[in-house]
Amino acid sequence: MAKKHPGFCALCGEYFDDLSFEHIPPRSAFNKFSARAVSGKDFIGKTTVPWDLKHLPYDNLQRGMGKYSLCSVCNSTAGVWYVKEYKKISHIFVEALAQITSADFPQCIEIKEMYPLRFIKQVICMFCSVNNQESLRAYNMAEQEISLQDNPLVQMMIESKKSLYQASKLVDELRRFVLDKNASGLDSKKFKVCMYVTKSSLHKLNGLSSVMKIENNTFSISSEISTFPLGFILYFNPTEDLEYKGVDITNFANCNYDDIASVRMPVFVYEMNTWVPLDYRTKAEIQKGINEAEDFLNNR
Ligand SMILES: [Zn+2]
Repeated sequence: MAKKHPGFCALCGEYFDDLSFEHIPPRSAFNKFSARAVSGKDFIGKTTVPWDLKHLPYDNLQRGMGKYSLCSVCNSTAGVWYVKEYKKISHIFVEALAQITSADFPQCIEIKEMYPLRFIKQVICMFCSVNNQESLRAYNMAEQEISLQDNPLVQMMIESKKSLYQASKLVDELRRFVLDKNASGLDSKKFKVCMYVTKSSLHKLNGLSSVMKIENNTFSISSEISTFPLGFILYFNPTEDLEYKGVDITNFANCNYDDIASVRMPVFVYEMNTWVPLDYRTKAEIQKGINEAEDFLNNR
């Protein structure tokens, strides 16, 4: 008998004995073939370079990359409303990528006719699956009092933990946005959705994470989905002073379901060689970092 996947649907929130598989990205958007899913906890300290996953334990996903995260009704409804547009845009970017090398990639791409709201809702739908109730349980702690610490690094870690908890409470707003076909507008104080292009064959589905910059004691809270050819970063409670990657497409959410627009946008092509959130270093840059760390340790 086929294995069942019980759990709470990442969109309607109801409990089901057997959830359906959501392809991330959609099957029709270059996700038809089997994939090997490696869990984050298996990476750390187990590989010499982060793009070499050959020797790590993996789940063989025969259907492609994705997750048993949606009930069949939500899965097929979102499929009918949003997937077609996502597929179309993915194919436009693949055609553009095929014609040129990343070095001379045009600064802008023009998409003649698109449905911006349908596209961004598919993106948000994927983020809901990645951040389903089961994944968010890790942050489900009572809101902690921030005790003042002398050490700014410790202080930043406490604040970042609290921010992760607060962000986990915002995901319900995203679910409602996707579930209502006609809902438009995302609160830009709470959410920023950025997009980039990648040629990498590594797919990355990162749930809520805090990325800290130790040099200036700042951090950002985000979730990231990196797939070929498009990658997305969903920032939570974005502040103006942080540096954001990719092109901001949050405004797509302000359109109506049937609005068609011609969109001209800058294109950012990133490399994706590690599991680390928001890390777009080339292999050479990563190797240089590894060598420097080893030199440092050897010369202590
Ligand atoms: Zn559902």
